[in-house]
Amino acid sequence: MARKKIVAGNWKMNTLPAEGVELAKSVVAGRSEVCECVNFIVCPPFTHLSQVVEAVKGSDIAVGAQDCATEAKGAYTGEVAAQMIAALGCKYVILGHSERRQYYGETSESLNKKMAQAYANGLTPIYCVGENLEEREAGNHFAVCKAQIEEVVFNLTEEQFANLVIAYEPVWAIGTGKTATAEQAQEIHAYIREVLRSKFGAAAEECPILYGGSCKPSNAAEIFAKADVDGGLIGGAALKAEDFLAIGKGF
Ligand code: PEP
Repeated sequence: MARKKIVAGNWKMNTLPAEGVELAKSVVAGRSEVCECVNFIVCPPFTHLSQVVEAVKGSDIAVGAQDCATEAKGAYTGEVAAQMIAALGCKYVILGHSERRQYYGETSESLNKKMAQAYANGLTPIYCVGENLEEREAGNHFAVCKAQIEEVVFNLTEEQFANLVIAYEPVWAIGTGKTATAEQAQEIHAYIREVLRSKFGAAAEECPILYGGSCKPSNAAEIFAKADVDGGLIGGAALKAEDFLAIGKGF
């Protein structure tokens, strides 16, 4: 079975509700120009998830959140529960993005709880891994990704693992305009799959591994052509429908 091809847009803390709805509608409007084989996901801020779900209704575009709480519900001021996200009609949740690891103290411990919440509520996690520049320069990128996978993904059941998307995002390439070369992406994606295989066996062949880090229309095709790259998690370029869709044409 061929692996799912996915292009997911992480809007981060961008767009006001009306702008987000407009962006989502433009993606829907242009979607037919891209192969049906590509699964598009948009991940707006919490504040307009509901409106974006409404805006993509009737299309095959899925909606995801950018994070969820470690707990199911209760006295956790400011948090958003996976159950609330699922109730809006979202199908995905990004977990472990490097910005959350770096600025908000996200750890494997909190991510294990968030993964459990996501699965308990039928959401598919897009679990992010990746090294920073110092780690890459020291040649530690393999070890860093391995640890981020072992400490979280290895705790999943086989059933949960069958419903997981991984995003490899080198921190040094996020929003910097620097992209990993297609060869660098393939090298580490193949390594990540090998790590997954050591725990989950043949099921690792089915797990989509996305590349993220300054992916744009001009470099998507070369990166997506690599055997172990199954699509992209897109930041900046996801804020323009035309560019986001053009990245999908990279397959
Ligand atoms: C991201 O943060 O998920 C990302 C890939 O950002 P950008 O495409 O802007 O580098």
